[in-house]
This record gives sequence, C-alpha cells and structure tokens, in this order.
Amino acid sequence: MKAEQHIEVLGARVHNLKDIDLKIPRNKLVVITGLSGSGKSSLAFDTIYAEGQRRYIETFSAYARQFLGNLERPDVDKIEGLSPVIAIEQKTTSRSPRSTVGTITEIYDFLRLLFARAGTAYSYKTGEKMVSYTDEQILNKILDDFKGKSVNILAPKIRSRKGHYRELFEQIGKQGFVKVRIDGEIKDIVKGLKVDRYKTHDIEIVVDRLRIEDKTSVRRRLFDSIKTAMKLGQNTMLLIPKDQTTPVYFSRELMCPTTGIAYPKPEPNSFSFNSPKGACPDCNGLGQKYVVNPDKIIPNKNLSVNQGGIEPHGKSKKNWVFKQLKEIALHHGFKLTDPIKDIPQEAIEVILYGGKASFKHYNETMKMDIEHRYDFEGVANFIEKTYHAKQISTSLKRWAKKYMDHILCPSCKGSRLKKMALHFKVDNYNISELVDKDILALFDIIKDLPNHLSASKLKIADEIIKEIKTRLQFLIDVGLTYLNLNRGSKTLSGGEAQRIRIATQIGSQLVGVLYILDEPSIGLHQRDNEKLTNSLKYLRDIGNSIIVVEHDKDMMISADHIIDIGPFAGKNGGEIISQGPPNEILKQHTETAQYLNGKKEIEVPKNAGEVMPSIYI
Ligand SMILES: [Zn+2]
Repeated sequence: MKAEQHIEVLGARVHNLKDIDLKIPRNKLVVITGLSGSGKSSLAFDTIYAEGQRRYIETFSAYARQFLGNLERPDVDKIEGLSPVIAIEQKTTSRSPRSTVGTITEIYDFLRLLFARAGTAYSYKTGEKMVSYTDEQILNKILDDFKGKSVNILAPKIRSRKGHYRELFEQIGKQGFVKVRIDGEIKDIVKGLKVDRYKTHDIEIVVDRLRIEDKTSVRRRLFDSIKTAMKLGQNTMLLIPKDQTTPVYFSRELMCPTTGIAYPKPEPNSFSFNSPKGACPDCNGLGQKYVVNPDKIIPNKNLSVNQGGIEPHGKSKKNWVFKQLKEIALHHGFKLTDPIKDIPQEAIEVILYGGKASFKHYNETMKMDIEHRYDFEGVANFIEKTYHAKQISTSLKRWAKKYMDHILCPSCKGSRLKKMALHFKVDNYNISELVDKDILALFDIIKDLPNHLSASKLKIADEIIKEIKTRLQFLIDVGLTYLNLNRGSKTLSGGEAQRIRIATQIGSQLVGVLYILDEPSIGLHQRDNEKLTNSLKYLRDIGNSIIVVEHDKDMMISADHIIDIGPFAGKNGGEIISQGPPNEILKQHTETAQYLNGKKEIEVPKNAGEVMPSIYI
C-alpha cells in the first residue's frame, strides 16, 4: 500500500474552529500560524494531537484501558493519514530533583556505562591507582615477590565493626581453620573465643601458612589457598610475611595497594545518584540537603522558654515537653522564665540535641531529696526526624523545613555521588567533573577521548563514546551549548526543555512519527533559531512529519507549507485564511503575507518567553 501523502482533517470544530477541512502534507515541515487565539493550537494540539493520543490508547488492551481511561474524541468528523503523534510542548519535562539534563537526554546513562567499562579507579585514601588481579596473576606475583619467605594467607571477614563474634569464631573453627587474626594479632581459635563487644574489630581468617617456593606442590597449594581466601573474603585477601606485621592486599577486583581498601567491581549503577550503589549516603544523591538551623529554632534569645523562645514548642503549656524542659532546667540550674541567652550552653545542647539524666534534687516543701529524671529527644533531632520520616504529611514536612536550611551537601559537595564513584576517572576527569562542564566543552573532551584511552579500553568504549558524541551534537544543534548535564531539569525554561526533547527525539531516530511543537523558536537568538530549524528539517528528512505552531518569520519562510488560521481571535477566528508553500503565501494579500514581507509588524507579547501556549500571537 502506498503511504498516504496527506493528513486529512474533515469537519474540525474544536473550540472556535469553524467546521474546517484541510489537507496537511506528510513528511514535511508545516507551520500553523495565526494571531493569538485564532485557533492554531486548537487545530494542532486539541484536534490532531488529541485524536492521535486517543487512537494510541485505543490500541491498548481493554484491561490496560480501564487504568488509562478512554480519551474523549475531539470534535472532528474524521482524520485520515495520521501517524503516531508526539507533542513536544513548552513544558518542563520533570519536576523531580533527581532529573537532570544528563538523565533526560540519556547522556548520563552512557557516561555511567563509559565509567563502568573504561574508568580507571584510584584510591580515595591515597590517590593511588587501584589494582585488579586474576587468581593466576596473584599467584605469580606472590611467587615472585615472596620467594623464600614464610607467609600467612588470610581472608578478611570483619572490617571495623563492633561485636563479640563468638558465633563467628565457632563457625570458622567448624570450617576447619585453626587461627584467626584479630586486630592485627594472630590467635588460635579456642573454645569460647570472643572479643570486646563494644569495640570495633578487624578479623581475618588464617587460611594457610606456607613457605613460598617455585615448586609444583607449593604452586598448587598456594593457588588453592588463594581461591579459598578470595571466596571467604569476598574477592579480597591479605598476605603477611612471617617477620612483618603490615599486610599486603590482593583483590580480584579493585584494591588500593597501600591501605587495602577495596572497591567492588564498578557497574553503571555505581555512578548513578539515583541508586544506593552510587548515591552519596549523606544527601541520598540530591547534592543538597536540609539541615536544622538552631538559630531558626531559637530566633530571639531574649525570650524565655516559657515565653515561646523555643519557637517550635511555643509558649508554656501543660504538656509532657514542658515537663521535660522543667526537669532539664532543674538539672542545669536555670529557670524556664530566664531569657534563653542566660541559659548555660550545655542545657541548650540538651534542649536541641537531646539527653537523659536521673538526679536527686532537694525539695524545700518535703524537706528531702527527690528523684528526678528526663529523657529528652531534642527539638533539632525531632525536626530532623520529622523531615526525613517516610510517611508524613506535607504540612508537617513543611513545618519541619521552616527550621532548616537548604545547603550544598558537605559530603559530596553537590556531586550527588559516593566517594568511590568520584575516584574513577576517564582521561583524568571524574564523572562529576564531566557533567559540570558545559555541553560544548564536554563535547571537545569526549571527541578527544580516543587519544587518551589505551587500546584495550578504547575497544570497549568506542561505541559508547560515539553515542555520547552524537547526543551532545544534537544538543549543540538545537543551541543548548551553554547548559551542563548536571543542571536540574526543573530549573530549565520551557523553551530549553522543549529543545532538549527535540534533541532527544533526534537521538531516538524514530521514523514515521508526527511531531507537533508549539513555538520552539521562543527565546532563541537568530543563530540558534537557524540550528533549530535545521534540526527539525533533519527530523523531517529521516522520515517524519513536523507540525509547528509558530509565528517566527524565519521558521515560516523555511517551512515547506504554511497554514494560516484567522482572521482574528476567538469567535472571529477559526478559519483557514490561506495555505500553501511560503512563496505562494507571500503573494497573497493577507496580514501574514504582509508580515512575512516585512511590511507589517505583529505585536509580540513582552514576556514572550514565559507565555502560556494559548496567549501568544
Ligand atoms: Zn551528598
């Protein structure tokens, strides 16, 4: 079947449209123009797009449709030749703080892949390059480096954790091992062995003790011990020569050769701030966090506690909190009627960050010591807890925020990532440094990357680099050179978000789609406008139909076809004044022709960058 040449709209009556019929050429760049309120959006969005959406939903199963709901049919008799429709409106794509230019363009996903596959790991403790070995390599290295020496092969089990570990020692003994290394000291596993439960410990299992010689029997035994140690130590092992105390670490994965800290093998999620594997644990990958500001809790130190000086608690009332505050006051020797500035600092600490005490206090009336106690959570702690609570009302959360400051996360300095993620580098940049660069600078770095990677890494990364490069190029093509990938998508203007979506659509290389855009030229400079038009033409040339609701002169002149809706707004609009290729439109005696000829200016709203889709001209 021959593909249809036109989208045919018959009897469109949505809003002010006057029962219009028209043929819109397919696989062309079509501009629908007209005054504000003339009905051009009613035609493009409320008729053509709405019908496209409705048909799309109709293709879903009845089961799926009960969740999606059926869309109302727009007031139109018939639309023929309609392809799947994608509207690219001037709306910010996502309000989520986890969405960035990098994530919505998917470039960040490719960068994560690049770092996981081709990144070089460095120790976050010493800055040294991390090392990764196969068991075979480890075997040979040990044979070379420790020849003639007696060594212990150990498997790390506990790293800097508290506990008595009695069951662990028992279990290790049952597996047939006789010695463990506890906090640097090798000990026999005896019945009932345990350690101080309140102290942090490092515990390693002594897997083998042997003299390293290049003999087949030694080789075989050592290789078995390496395998056992790696299994018990989760791909990490230690070797300690008999006369030394400092262990040498080996890892199947990534090890700092000096300190022995290990990284797990990186995966794309290790670089994702939306995954616990990569996110900074302090801010959960947001790069910013809310912290309690004591000055907001106590805004006026001249007030007393009773006068409401601790703002979240308000003025004195008969409740549990004030009873507790009274006990704190008694313990620290002040009165709830004292101005807060006169209260001892340690009492303020208790009020803010909590504390408990039981004490005796002489009671004048009873002439005896009375037992007192308090166990106070602390206002700041309570606010913090409230803010972070999972199931909590927005109003309570808002209340908590009143006493907090929004700050750059001190742990990740806004990079959103774990320390480990920031110590993988590609061409001396970590992933956070790359997403902070503007698109143009990043493009230059990526373009140059093949010159900075080893042959083996390039082989793995080549395709990924190409993907990143093309996607960056699309962003450059739509004039977004100045953005960086770390930019939160909720801070983008409507026009920027729309152009990112155009770039993403180009990247997706879909064909046979009808794209509908509203005013993509808004806020663009002449030069970028040209780039944008070229991007739309590119989308057309790969086999798509483009409808643009637009009044920009250059865009109209570059179009294949113009549809002019008017003549005026509202009920005096909704008709097709003229349509055809730009050179034909120019010959007519319409307002639009005069505008295109430069004979007439059309008033542009002052806030053209921010207008709602229905009120621009
Ligand atoms: Zn952080």
